[in-house]
This record gives sequence, structure tokens and C-alpha cells, in this order.
Amino acid sequence: QDTSKPSIGAEAPLRGVRLSSPDKVLWPATKDRLAITKRDLAEYYERVGEKMLEHIRGRPCSIIRMPDGIEGKSFFQRHPVKGQSPLIEAVEIKGDPKPYIRIDTVEGLIAAAQFAAVEIHPWNCVPYQHDKAERLIFDLDPAPDVGFEEVILAAKEVRARLKELGLESHCKTTGGKGLHVTTYVEHLDMDWTEAKGFAREFARVMAVNAPDRYLISMSKEARKGRIFIDYLRNDRKATAVAPYSPRGRPGAPVSMPLSWSQVRNGLDPCRYRIEPIR
Ligand code: ATP
Ligand code: MN
Ligand code: MN
Repeated sequence: QDTSKPSIGAEAPLRGVRLSSPDKVLWPATKDRLAITKRDLAEYYERVGEKMLEHIRGRPCSIIRMPDGIEGKSFFQRHPVKGQSPLIEAVEIKGDPKPYIRIDTVEGLIAAAQFAAVEIHPWNCVPYQHDKAERLIFDLDPAPDVGFEEVILAAKEVRARLKELGLESHCKTTGGKGLHVTTYVEHLDMDWTEAKGFAREFARVMAVNAPDRYLISMSKEARKGRIFIDYLRNDRKATAVAPYSPRGRPGAPVSMPLSWSQVRNGLDPCRYRIEPIR
């Protein structure tokens, strides 16, 4: 008998949000772990919701939906769909014909789970002020032949260089192959042209100083053996995965904020994943 999926109460609403097909598998079982269901995702959002909301509240978000699980089709959705849920707010952006998605509550995150939103990607604006940069993200994208130790070194270099400019920074795993280094710049009162220019120049200097390790062109061919410093996350409508967001990749990894002392050899980003509580 399979006791891993309690059927009694499985349909019970979570924080008042009803889940249809709560036992729907979104991340299939792997050899060392159980499958992750829609209800597991909703419960995960309930657990990390308040912490996650610090990073997404007041910012438009794209969601990646995988209604048939990670082996099925995925939908990158920026705009609310009529009838989806009033908990997923529609936010009008000046000069834009279509409203964007905003999720400001834990209930909203659970409603997103109901729609199989396996990833949440916010803008990086100041909350409720879409034209102002709150944070810059240096997205470190290694070529497949680059070891993770190199990515760790790159993250530390970004941190040191930001520090020279008087900027503190934070690091998070992506749930994928790289790392993100984030710095808060709200006090610098930058619009997106300034933010993008700053991020590009910062990345360019790093690449000029160590052209054998870094590059700032997106070309996958040219990347070989190097890390692409992806500064392109820094634009008004550009997004990056939210801290604590799961990823629609095998094993249900999540993007995990780290302290700088954790960013050292031996760091295994695969450790951070949805751990269902049953
Ligand atoms: P990794 O560590 O594996 O690089 P990542 O989250 O940094 O993980 P990237 O491929 O470097 O992944 O970044 C992709 C970024 O582009 C994401 O942060 C996301 O916000 C955005 N994005 C993802 N899918 C789409 C899409 N279909 N359309 C537009 N933007 C997307
Ligand atoms: Mn990346
Ligand atoms: Mn990237």
C-alpha cells in the first residue's frame, strides 16, 4: 500500500485556497526521492512564502507553469489570464497595454501552485515603483566544461569588486548551474538606463581583466571554458528567479540565498530542493 500520498484531506483547502488534483505529480520520483505533487508545491510555498514575498511583493512577476509536470510543456506567463484567480493580482504598467502579474500574499503563492507555477521570476524594481532599480543581479553562467569552484571564485570576485565601490552583496544558488550575486542600489536612485549601464560596465571590466575566465557576450560557442557574466538581468522588464523559488528541473531544486561563508568549495547547489513534509 502506498502511504506516501494521503488521500484523506488531500482536497482540503490550504489557507482557504482550493487545490484541484492535489496529487498531480509535478516532479516525478527519482531514484533517491519521492515524487513532488501539486500539494507539496503549495505546502512548500506556504512554508517559505513570507520570506519569498520579501523579494517579490510589489514587483511584477513572470511565472513558469508546468501543468503536466516538468516533463510536459512549460508556459512562461507574464500577464494574468482572466478567471485564473483574484489572488494573482493584475498590475497596470504605464505605457503597457497588458497588465502584469503581481503576487503579494502567501495565498497568492498557493493560488499560483494551483496553476502549477513551478517557478516565480520577479522584476528587480523598487516595490510598487517600476521605473526604479532596487537591485542589480550578476547572473554567472558557466560553460558546461567549467567547474563549480570557478563559479564560486567568480561570485567572490563580484562581491569584492562591488565592495570596492561601497556596495554590499548577497549570493544565491539558482537551482541550476550558476550563481546569482545581488546588490541593492535603491539608495543610488537609478533608473533602468543607468542600472543597465552600470551593470554592463561592471561586467565588462571583469571580462577585460580576465578574458580567459569571463566573457560578456551571450554566444554559447564563445563561452567554452569561461563564465558568461550575464548582466542582462538588469533591465526594467528583465527577470531573475526569486530566492526560494523552485525550478522546473529534475529533483525539484530551489534557488537558495546563502551567507558568504557558505560560498566556498564543497558547496553543492543540488542540496537545496523542495523537501516535502508528509
Ligand atoms: P542557471 O544557474 O542555470 O543559469 P538561471 O536562473 O540563472 O539558472 P538563466 O538561463 O541564466 O537561468 O537565466 C534565464 C533568465 O531568463 C531567468 O532568470 C528568467 O527570469 C528569464 N527567462 C527564463 N525563461 C524565459 C522565457 N521563456 N522568456 C523570457 N525570459 C525568460
Ligand atoms: Mn544563470
Ligand atoms: Mn543567464
